[in-house]
Amino acid sequence: MRLSPANPDASAVPMAPAYPPARLPAAPALSLDAFRRGDGPPVPSILDAGQARFVTSGRVAIALALRGMGVGPGDTVLVPAYHCASMIEPVVWAGAAPLFYRIQADTAVDLDDIAAKLAGAGNVRVLMATNYFGFHQPLPALRAFCDAHGIRLLEDCAHSFLGEHAGRPLGSFGDYAIASTMKFYPVYEGGCLVSARHRLDGVRLQPAGIGFEVKMLLNPIENGFAYGRLPLLRRLLALPMAAQHAAWRFIKARRHGTVPALAPGSSEGGFGFDPAWLTKRSSFFSRLMLRAVSRRRMGALRRRHYLRLHEALGTLPGCRPLFASLPDGVYPWVFPLRCAAPEALFHRLKETGVPVIRFSEFLWPGVDAGVCANSVDLSRRVLQLPCHQDLRDEEIGWMIDTVRAAVLAPGEHAR
Ligand SMILES: *Cc1c(COP(=O)(O)O)cnc(C)c1O
Repeated sequence: MRLSPANPDASAVPMAPAYPPARLPAAPALSLDAFRRGDGPPVPSILDAGQARFVTSGRVAIALALRGMGVGPGDTVLVPAYHCASMIEPVVWAGAAPLFYRIQADTAVDLDDIAAKLAGAGNVRVLMATNYFGFHQPLPALRAFCDAHGIRLLEDCAHSFLGEHAGRPLGSFGDYAIASTMKFYPVYEGGCLVSARHRLDGVRLQPAGIGFEVKMLLNPIENGFAYGRLPLLRRLLALPMAAQHAAWRFIKARRHGTVPALAPGSSEGGFGFDPAWLTKRSSFFSRLMLRAVSRRRMGALRRRHYLRLHEALGTLPGCRPLFASLPDGVYPWVFPLRCAAPEALFHRLKETGVPVIRFSEFLWPGVDAGVCANSVDLSRRVLQLPCHQDLRDEEIGWMIDTVRAAVLAPGEHAR
């Protein structure tokens, strides 16, 4: 059971070429620093927005939100044309039809197109809107639009666990909001269903079993080890870990290799949506991390790392940051960079061990430039680099040097 570092790109497919392991963690990696208290002002989060239920992934939370809003066969859900499969699969699972609306070049929703789509389809129940990369949508306007048209708002905070807008935490504008815990915390599974407007009493969750709990504790620890974190613990645990691996191999052999899935289809990609996890509570370890990891520190470091990347990479030839500035109240998930020659650069970075990702690399079948040219362009051209709180300064330095070298390599910017 060798674990590869968690890959936060939900849309990766199994067919992707095999690249060497990333040289630095793509997602938060467990270390003792994670528990240090940050300084600076408190950082608002989706957990301040309302009642919460802790499930095993963001996509499960989307499915529960749709169920809470009574979405079923014959209904239509307005979803953004810039998306990953894990946003659409729960809609299809609910029996509803996704209707893709346009977004603008800066990822803001196209309200005119939403209005046109709404007028053209008789049975729209819900509008799903995503705060891409941590940058909020015009949420008060979306809220007012939904209220005026009698539809519900589902706020996708998978990229915006932290943040505020117009004096309110992100996640408080929607009828329901969802988050993906593993994009922000050093955990292997986790999603939140939150509502500032509706009771969540109907959402009943059960523990997923001891095997799941153990695995969800060990995976983040092993991932931390893989990136040189927790060196003392690593030495202490070397023997018990080896024993655990041996036991696992033994069980697997006895069951002729048919070990039941212990982990949900989480952000590792390619897993799809499995309704078996709709009734399962997030692991004890993940829920503990939600309490133990300092949001102040997380928020401050994410901003600092983002600005460092913005400064160092924003003026490279053929590259520009997707967002011109980092507004107050934004605590980014990643640093999105718009590139003129994205394919070659993506490939080159992956081969050198840079954990670059491409949100929305694979659009839902039928979503093409005719549906939304901006979404197709964004999904091709915007590469994302990690800026999470568990990156070390020298790791970011190496990443910057490597990206610069890749962009400035002969022939690269000529394209
Ligand atoms: C990752 C992601 C999700 C789903 O979250 P999982 O925890 O991977 O199921 C939903 N929306 C967006 C925008 C995402 O990036």
